[in-house]
Parts: sequence; C-alpha cells; structure tokens
Amino acid sequence: MSARIISGVEIAKAIREELKGEIADLKAKHNVVPGLVTVLVGENPASVSYVTAKSKTAKELGIYSEQVDLSAETSEADLLALIDKYNQDEKIHGILVQLPLPKHINEARVLYAIDPDKDVDGFHPVNVGKMVLGEKCFLPCTPHGILEMLQRSGVETSGKEVVVLGRSNIVGKPIANLMLQKRPAGNATVTLCHTRTKDTDFHTKRADILIAAVGVPNLIKADQVKDGVVIIDVGVNRIGMSESGKAILAGDVDFESVKEKASFITPVPGGVGPMTITMLMKNTVQSAKQAAGLL
Ligand code: NAP
Repeated sequence: MSARIISGVEIAKAIREELKGEIADLKAKHNVVPGLVTVLVGENPASVSYVTAKSKTAKELGIYSEQVDLSAETSEADLLALIDKYNQDEKIHGILVQLPLPKHINEARVLYAIDPDKDVDGFHPVNVGKMVLGEKCFLPCTPHGILEMLQRSGVETSGKEVVVLGRSNIVGKPIANLMLQKRPAGNATVTLCHTRTKDTDFHTKRADILIAAVGVPNLIKADQVKDGVVIIDVGVNRIGMSESGKAILAGDVDFESVKEKASFITPVPGGVGPMTITMLMKNTVQSAKQAAGLL
C-alpha cells in the first residue's frame, strides 16, 4: 500500500481562494482591508525567506502589508517602541515578529508586548491561555494548519491514538492540546514524547496519527510505525544545497520508506509549510473582522 499524499500546497491554495473572496467582500461591504506588519530583526537567511514569503502571500490575497527590516543591532527598547506604534495603528490587524530574535533581545518581553488582539501568531499568553480553555482566540499557525489538513483530508481523529514528537511552544504543546479538545480534528487520546521519553518506539508503533516536530532529518523509519498510520511531518531540515544554490529539505520522517506503510502522509517540502503561512493570513482576516465588530 502506498499512502495518500496530503498536499499542503493544494489545501493551502483552496484556503487562500476562500480568503481572497472574504477579503474582497470585507472591502466591498464594510470598507475593511485587513493589514499585516512583519518585523524582521537581523538577516538570518531562513527568517528572511519566511518573512518575504509572508509579505508576498499577504499582498497576493489583497491584505495590506508592511515589512519592517531592522538591523541585528536594534535595541530591545526600539523594537518595543515599534510594536507599540503598530498596536495603535488602526490599519494594522496583525503584528508578526519573526523568531528567533538576536540574543540581546528578550523574546518573551517582545511577544508579550504585542496587543493580544493583533497577535496573529497566537504566541501571546492571553491567546495561549484561551486556546487551552477552548475559547475563541488566534490559534498558533502551524498547529492550526495541521488541524485544517486533517479535517480537509477526511482523517478521523475522534477516539484515535495521537502521538506527538516534540514539545515546543509553537508546535508540539499546542497541537497536543488542541487534538485532545472537544472540537473538529480533536477528541483524540494524545501522547507527547520528547528527548526524556523512555521508549519512544513503543509510542510511535501504536500511533494511529503520528505528528513529528523534532527537527531531526529522517528520524522516523518504517519499522517504527504501524500499518495505516497517518503521518504529519512538521520537520523542515536543511540537509544540503542543490547545484542551483537552493536548500535541500528533509522532514523528520523517512518519507520514502514510511509512505509504503502509512494511509496518509504529508511531504516535505509541500506539506505543513505552506499551511503555516496560510493560517497566518486566516488569522489576520479574523483579526480584521473582530476589530470591525463582524465576529
Ligand atoms: P524545537 O524547539 O526545535 O524542539 C524540538 C523538540 O523535539 C524538543 O521538544 C525536543 O525534546 C524534541 N526532540 C528532539 N529529538 C527528539 C527525539 N529523538 N525524540 C523525541 N523528541 C525529540 O521544535 P520546533 O520549533 O517545534 O521545530 C521542530 C521542527 O519543525 C523543526 O525542523 C522546525 O524547522 C520545524 N517547523 C516547521 C514549521 C512549518 O511550518 N513547517 C513550523 C515550525 C517548526 P526536548 O524538549 O526534550 O529537548
């Protein structure tokens, strides 16, 4: 058996079409244009490419977009002042500060300074708390994208054994939490593994749905999963450079061997990645609607 590929590219395309319609409607009926500002500090190549992709996607969808590129030497005080400016700016409904930040800047202080109503990354403690309580909030983009992928691919999650590898604040912890909630793509029994887990294979082998977010290329092999498993591979690992100078990427799952055993699998690239940016756009539109009293 060869797995059905869950194409993040295709699902993201469908969601972006829906968003285009919503954005056009917002403008025509309510004179509201969603606005997003992306803030980059320094020149980390991966961050530059993420921020550029986010601004480009926003523009393509009809979202008003500003991109602020700051030098790596920018002080924390200057960054906080910039965030405060955008917190007050009515044109802007979403503020995204690209992580990681240079070492001299306290990441938590910066993220906590963003108005929770403009926190379209869903990293502010107010939104994290609401997420855990199952209240309306901005869901963090990568987990949000995973939920959409599962739902739109018709993967049943209710009553399933979900095993998550990795306990980061941006992927592992939130997706584990969301999938145990009473909600679409939820109601699962969830196990969260990390580097101190005693017998990770024991858990991966009994997973109905395995979500890997560890950052170790091709870590999970076919003999560590059961037949029919659903694989969501979040890992984006640069394993080399092509002759044309493009990064060669691998996921956390050994795609070639595992796809022969799985029922569904996400590829890398073209899986979770395109969904993350798309959910950022969806959150920005949600924020604009909330600000206009339309939600
Ligand atoms: P992270 O902060 O890099 O942390 C990695 C997590 O994996 C840690 O919790 C670590 O455990 C755990 N881990 C490492 N090796 C492990 C192993 N052998 N078995 C079990 N757990 C292990 O995590 P992240 O930021 O979520 O990133 C993970 C991967 O996802 C990276 O490749 C990243 O580039 C990718 N990513 C992709 C997207 C996307 O949009 N596609 C978005 C975000 C992240 P400890 O806590 O014990 O150290």
